[in-house]
Amino acid sequence: MLLRAVRGDITEADVDVVVNAANPGLLGGGGVDGAIHAAGGPEILAECRALKAGLPGGRLPRGRAVATTAGRLPARWVVHTAGPIWSADQDRSAVLRSCCTESLRVADGLGARSVAFPAISAGVYGWPLADAAVQAVAGVRAVEVQHVQEVRFVLFDDRALAAFEAAL
Ligand code: ADP
Repeated sequence: MLLRAVRGDITEADVDVVVNAANPGLLGGGGVDGAIHAAGGPEILAECRALKAGLPGGRLPRGRAVATTAGRLPARWVVHTAGPIWSADQDRSAVLRSCCTESLRVADGLGARSVAFPAISAGVYGWPLADAAVQAVAGVRAVEVQHVQEVRFVLFDDRALAAFEAAL
């Protein structure tokens, strides 16, 4: 499995699976979540609603991952995961690693060969970028894949790209 980091807009990634930095409510939001729903169209949200109805309390636990199709995106599937909110008092890094491990497992279970990840938790959720990159790479490397050949971290700006290049 090849791991690499590129700069770009994840909604344009030519991969089988795009991972979405969603929230537990699964009904869209800002940041990369909003961009994925805006570019992918309403089918993704409709599938999220159906998935949500089957989850206890209608919430996706942070660190877990679920898949929908990808609507109008070039990708075939979107894997939605809810990252932890950064806390200076509490170490939530295992949850962030789990987001990446579980998302990659779900993608691999779908038979995906290529998977794009954004910098989960490093936006509105406030995780320091350098550590977000370290946790993401560790989470991905923990998976023994059957199908996935490439994990591509698609970063929105140069700072995020530099952090992921350093972690890799
Ligand atoms: P979280 O709530 O998990 O922190 P955000 O969406 O706020 O998620 O931010 C996660 C990261 O995604 C940030 O580094 C942000 O710059 C980046 N991002 C936002 N839009 C896109 C996009 N279209 N493609 C790739 N990354 C994006």
